[in-house]
Amino acid sequence: MSEIMTSEIKITKVKESRVSQVDLENVTMGFNFTDHMFICDYENGEWQNPRIEPLALIPTHPAAMALHYGQAIFEGMKARKSKNGTPLLFRADENAKRLNFSADRMGMPLFPEDLFIEALKQFTAIEKDWIPSKEGSALYLRPFMYADEPFIGMRAATKFKFMIIASPAGPFFSRKIKLYAEKKYVRAVNGGTGEAKAAGNYAAAIRPTEYAKAKGYDQVLWLDAHDFEYIQEVGTMNIFFKIGGKFITPSLTGSILSGITRMSVIDLLRHKGFEVTERPIKISEIIVASQNGTLEEAFGTGTAVGIAMIEEIGNNDLSIKFPLENPVSIMVNDTLNKIKKQEIEDPFGWVIEA
Ligand code: PMP
Repeated sequence: MSEIMTSEIKITKVKESRVSQVDLENVTMGFNFTDHMFICDYENGEWQNPRIEPLALIPTHPAAMALHYGQAIFEGMKARKSKNGTPLLFRADENAKRLNFSADRMGMPLFPEDLFIEALKQFTAIEKDWIPSKEGSALYLRPFMYADEPFIGMRAATKFKFMIIASPAGPFFSRKIKLYAEKKYVRAVNGGTGEAKAAGNYAAAIRPTEYAKAKGYDQVLWLDAHDFEYIQEVGTMNIFFKIGGKFITPSLTGSILSGITRMSVIDLLRHKGFEVTERPIKISEIIVASQNGTLEEAFGTGTAVGIAMIEEIGNNDLSIKFPLENPVSIMVNDTLNKIKKQEIEDPFGWVIEA
């Protein structure tokens, strides 16, 4: 089905682009949206009518099941421009796979991966004038799927929409971040939905994140739901530590989102000759490393920020301070950014043209 559909994306363009009304060199992610949106409907057991249209409000029935039972998932990725202006996508195939992993967990239909990539390419090519060129800027792409069947009752919906919208994003702060090691609220448990990119996971994280910010921290460091002992992830990022010359990151045990930046950083570090181990990590281990002087660097990884260096992990009873210098983290950040813009060779084949 999807092979036919990829050649059948119906395109209706705006009469006049709004791009000249936006100062692309001074934008904050999430406020401005591009001219178009991609939409595809799921009805009668099939994805149908893939189309790119002018961005508009979407009529929603008040009983749309996503609003009540939360069948809603999303993805996040960035398009950049090469030096000669070609729009580039980074590991879009991994976003396609993760969307379907999330869809499966949430009882939603899978979206054809070839159509996902083709839709992204065509959409990004149409919106290429919205890709900012300033260092660290990009066009944030937001593919998402939600249940829009009007029905009151607890079961999987039978009607869904898959859509893509986009928002130009400026560079994020390069300052280091402080993490609040949360010991009251939890984000995810094994067997729950933490390893899916489901909207509800983010809803559950909002209040604890507000509390952490009110205490002077930037993000929540999520710990395991049983003993508050094992490190899971950070806000909307995965986490890495460098201890005694080697890297460790929490293994994907069922409650952590499999970040695409995470998997790329693991490959890149190994490519550069570093040892990287994925395993359960106790917070007590980080405290010991800090005390015995082997704790070297720590950073979060995610699409929005890239690599965010960590300055401190703390809570009411704890304060782990990280060394000021983080040369390897900086190297990883720079290398990844250059690969994404095709400024250096991409030895992994991660970047495709839109
Ligand atoms: N964890 C969570 C909970 C996230 O929302 C994200 C952002 N998608 C990540 C980790 C990092 O994933 P990625 O590197 O694919 O952006």
